Amino acid sequence: MTAKAKTTATRRSTASKRSRAAAVQTVDSQFHNFTPYQPKKGEHYMNDAQLEHFHDILNNWRRELMEEVDRTVHHMQEEAANFPDPADRATQEEEFSIELRTRDRERKLIKKIDQTIDRVDQEDYGFCDTCGIEIGLRRLEARPTATQCVDCKSLDEIKERQIHG
Ligand SMILES: [Zn+2]
Repeated sequence: MTAKAKTTATRRSTASKRSRAAAVQTVDSQFHNFTPYQPKKGEHYMNDAQLEHFHDILNNWRRELMEEVDRTVHHMQEEAANFPDPADRATQEEEFSIELRTRDRERKLIKKIDQTIDRVDQEDYGFCDTCGIEIGLRRLEARPTATQCVDCKSLDEIKERQIHG
């Protein structure tokens, strides 16, 4: 490999690693780019202001994910044009399958966010689906699509593990 080719290859692999890391991060860590809500004294849980706060968080998060999906598609189109030789293509296919899985996760997450936004619009948001208690502002800010309180979620996860080993 000539020095120039090597430099190009290194730069290319660094670039794709970076974009992959960014994509994974968006999906795995929940949305954090917001100011935590500070309820006033005696404020009702899930009043209009709070619903609006979560509506904004969910919308921004959705927009970020959509942009990420676009970036992945563009990246794959660019890379496809960049790998003429078969040895490179094997690496490329592996990368693509990782990116496709990431996109699949992103698409599922966007669907979940859409369903959650619907629930905010119907003012049916922020209460545990299983036991009915308040999920809580801090937990919802960490996981805006949460439909269960911590206790019910943990119980379900334990049951899940017992069923599936
Ligand atoms: Zn619960």
